[in-house]
Formats: sequence, structure tokens, C-alpha cells
Amino acid sequence: MTRVLVINSGSSSLKLQILDTAGEEELAWALVERIGEPTGSLTVRRTAMTGESADERTTEEAFADHTAALGRVLELAGELHVHPTDLGVEAIGHRVVHGGPEFHQPVLVTPEVEADIEKLELLAPLHNPANLRGIRVARELLPGLPHVAVFDTGFFHTLPAAAHTYAIDRETSRRWDLRRYGFHGTSHEFVSRRTAAVLDRPYDELNQIVLHLGNGASASAIAAGRAVDTSMGLTPLEGLVMGTRPGDLDPGLIIHLIRDRGMSPGDVSTLLNRRSGLEGLSGARDFRELLSRVDDNDDDAVLAYDVVIHRLRRYIGGYWAVLGHVDAITFTAGVGENVARLRADALSTMMDWGVQIDAEANENGSGERLISAPDSRVKVLVVPTDEELAIARACDDVLGLGPDA
Ligand code: ADP
Repeated sequence: MTRVLVINSGSSSLKLQILDTAGEEELAWALVERIGEPTGSLTVRRTAMTGESADERTTEEAFADHTAALGRVLELAGELHVHPTDLGVEAIGHRVVHGGPEFHQPVLVTPEVEADIEKLELLAPLHNPANLRGIRVARELLPGLPHVAVFDTGFFHTLPAAAHTYAIDRETSRRWDLRRYGFHGTSHEFVSRRTAAVLDRPYDELNQIVLHLGNGASASAIAAGRAVDTSMGLTPLEGLVMGTRPGDLDPGLIIHLIRDRGMSPGDVSTLLNRRSGLEGLSGARDFRELLSRVDDNDDDAVLAYDVVIHRLRRYIGGYWAVLGHVDAITFTAGVGENVARLRADALSTMMDWGVQIDAEANENGSGERLISAPDSRVKVLVVPTDEELAIARACDDVLGLGPDA
């Protein structure tokens, strides 16, 4: 049995889970939000999988920094008997957003690895510093455990040059490693492997399109088990329409805003990271809210939904052309797993290509499942993603802890 603590450290949040990779069970989790603000919130939960009944502690208080936040999590986890020591945690797995050109696989964190992650901060200023903070704080408060970094970009290191190269001056892109890296890789790999398992087909014989649609959203094209294209690029701004990010737009628009409209680079960054996508188009903070406004015939919400669907179709069609042949299309993450209407609308123009949704399975099922009609040439699936489990398993692999090691 391997027990792993998985940490996803954001700039003002910390998400933790303790998992058992053998039973694939979640034993405990914690979420801290609004770190560094006057009032933060914290929840620590013990699940019934520990053998004790489920229990929870929540508190609203100030957490000065990540050290204070993790310290408080450990204190409350101790009260619930789910401190990593109580549960026999053997390793800590960290989500690291940007692995740059070097990191293709999960790695044991050494001082050199840490220095390399730090260097990548220039490519991912919103994410990597927070991820690194998570590693450092965990090492300080939980000494003696090995740390493994699992990179969001890793799965996409197989992208062919034609897919990852920006068509800009070669000197400039080489000098600063400017290329498409892709993100959500842990999810795309997990989901595409589960898709092969559900279809009972060898992973390396399937051509797949995976649509990870959450607050962040990305698509990938996978040919015979290797990622060959993905919608996010140098940063997680490119591609599909997201909760607060626009996805693709004309780079000329950015130049225009800065040069001709007096916006600063910081203003543009805020516009593109926080005031675009669903929120920018309709004011809806998430997809649930968007759908309820669409039902009320709110014009902005209807347009936002249409833009989301239009973009999805362009990506699916584009990836189809890249792959030549598609065996499976899989939806995952909060929106992909829960919004039947979006799945049906995104694929409704593709009947001629051999995509037929089974309306009943699409609307009424739950969990991992096939939602295409029995005679649909292309299989369509819903597969819940589980990045934490994938990270925990990666720790097993890197440290040789797993049952197969
Ligand atoms: P994150 O990128 O933050 O991990 P998630 O994968 O949790 O995001 O997805 C969050 C999105 O999923 C939000 O837009 C939320 O409204 C949407 N969502 C979650 N559950 C549902 C649901 N049952 N119906 C509609 N939308 C949902």
C-alpha cells in the first residue's frame, strides 16, 4: 500500500489530498483559500476510507502565508487523525504547471530540480512560483519525505515540431524557448488511458481527441498513444474559451490595446486572465450560472455559449484533420463531465463523420461511460478526470514504491 500526499499549490490557495494508490482511495483532503487576505477559509476532511467515520473541520481565519496555511491544515488533520504521519504517508507529489523544455517526466525533487523549476518562473509567472512555494513549505513542515514534481506540460513533450512551433522569427523563439508546451497534460494522459481501458482497446492503437473542459479548458489530439497536438501554448491562455480566459485571439489585438488604447501590459494581463471568457462575455462566474442565464434567454449568455461551442467545433474538426482518423472523443472535467447539452451541441455537426450521440446515455448516465450510439463509428465517452490519483501513481513510479516495483 502506498500512501501519497498530493499538493496543488496556487498563488493564494492550497489543495491537498492523501490517497492510497493501491486502493485508489482518497483518505483525506484539505482546501485553503484566500491565503494572504484578511480572512481565509480552510476545510480539512477525513473520508470514511480511513476506517473511521467521515468528519470535517472548517475555519475562517487569516493565513499570513503558505507556511501558516499548511501549518494549520496539519494541526486540524492531527485532530482528525489524518495527519500524514498518522496515515503513514510515504511521499509527497506536487503539481507543477510548467516543465519547460527539460522536464518530460515526473522527477524526484532535488536542489537542482528546484533551481530548474525556479528558472521556469519566467515562462509561468502566475503558476510556477506558487508551485515551488508548495514544495518548500511541505519540506519545511514535513521533513524526511521524498517530493516528486509532476509537470502539467510533460505529456505534451511528444508534440511534433510542426505542432509546437510558433511561426515567428526562429532566432527569437530559440533564444527564449518560445513554443507551445500545452497544459493539463496529467489529465489528458489519465483520461486517454482510461478511454482505452473503457473501450478495451490497446492505448497505442487508438487515435483520440480529449476535451478537458473545466474553469481552464484544453483539447488534445493523441495518435496511437502519443500527444500530437494540444490547444494551450506557451501559457495556458491559448485555445478554447475558458471561465475567465479568451483562448485564441489575434495577437494584433494586444498590440492595439497597448499601443493605441493606452492599456499597460499589466492591464492586458488582467483582461486576458480574469476578465475574458465566460465571465468577460456574460458576467457569469461559472458554467452553471451561464446555463441558468441561457435558460432565461439572456442575450450575453446565449452568445457566450455559442462562442464556446463554435470554438470547440473548430478544435475538434482541426484535430480530426491532423489525426486523419478518430476512434474516440472524450469529455472530462467539471463542464465536460456534467453538461450533456454542451457535449451534444459540440458534436451535432459531425453526424456525417460518424459521430452519433445516444441521447439517453448522454443525459442520464453518470461516471465513466460511453455516450455514443451503438452504431456510432466514433466512440464518444465521458471520463471523470483524477489528476491527484495520476500524480500519486507518478510518485509510485518515480520512487519505485508501487506494487509492481
Ligand atoms: P478547475 O479547472 O477549477 O479544476 P473544474 O474541472 O472543477 O475546474 O470545472 C469547473 C467548472 O465546471 C465550472 O464552470 C462549473 O460551473 C462547472 N460545473 C461543475 N459541475 C457542474 C454541473 N453539474 N453543471 C454545470 N456545470 C458544472
